[in-house]
Amino acid sequence: MEPNYRVLLYYQYVTIENPEQFKEEHLAFCNSLGIKGRIIVSHEGINGTVSGTIDQTQAYMDGLHNDVRFKNLVFKQDLAYEHAFDKMHVRFKPELVNLKLEEDVNPLELTGTYLEPVAFYEAMKDENTVIIDARNDYEFDLGHFQGAIKPDIKTFRELPQWIKDNDELLEGKKILTYCTGGVRCEKFSGWLKAEGHDDVGQLHGGIVTYGYDETVQGELWDGACYVFDKRLSVPINRVNPVVVGKDILTLKPSERYLNCANPECNKQIIMSEDSEEKTLGSCCRECMIHPRNRYVLKHHISKETINQKLNELPESFL
Ligand SMILES: [Zn+2]
Repeated sequence: MEPNYRVLLYYQYVTIENPEQFKEEHLAFCNSLGIKGRIIVSHEGINGTVSGTIDQTQAYMDGLHNDVRFKNLVFKQDLAYEHAFDKMHVRFKPELVNLKLEEDVNPLELTGTYLEPVAFYEAMKDENTVIIDARNDYEFDLGHFQGAIKPDIKTFRELPQWIKDNDELLEGKKILTYCTGGVRCEKFSGWLKAEGHDDVGQLHGGIVTYGYDETVQGELWDGACYVFDKRLSVPINRVNPVVVGKDILTLKPSERYLNCANPECNKQIIMSEDSEEKTLGSCCRECMIHPRNRYVLKHHISKETINQKLNELPESFL
């Protein structure tokens, strides 16, 4: 069977004069086409990921390209067998990406040097280079560039403070940054320049574009790339792929992502089906005994069985 669906990932920094109104019109447009996904609209532009049939996504891309503000918008496109989303959301937000900057950076005025995949690949091999992963920790844990630094942060907005606290790492170095599709690096690399770092390069089009490139073929990328839709991850390295994700219980290689079954925790965890059964789909013991644990409710697991499972787990499991 040929894949008849597509998943699009895209962004454009461009001034949108009346974003609240644009949001309403854009939602109506998406609904009229039947596409699904998540789109953020702001004064500073648009950032989205949507899915639909080949025809629907084509109509969506044509629609945006016919708007002069988005005529040069680049869509990253993956073929798929079904929708990657259940619903269609278009939301207004004050910023496209949340960096919590004291003084906002406009990537249209200040941003790092755009490096295409081959240039980024070459720059990564330079000894005097520091590679900073500009994503969240759970994204890094599933896959990342070889030698990249994982900032010790939970969310993207903590990144500027982390950089300030670890400035010595960057002293006199060429800095490279990357993220999934490029939207976060536009701002992050601009902020680095505003902070006085001169030599800052960003991976143009992000990891996803790097994976498409026929020359580099994803080389120097280890693991899979986390994506914000039902697929959860996409492959990048076509030359010598390895698995870097680790099962939270056994620490064995795995790329099976799920949310902790405690609805109040919901933490992203990597675990095999076997470990999911042993931990009731939970990240820790406390989440296993939560009264609303989804795995427990779904499988009608008794108190005795929960206790038995708790006892069978290794002490290393918190
Ligand atoms: Zn949990």
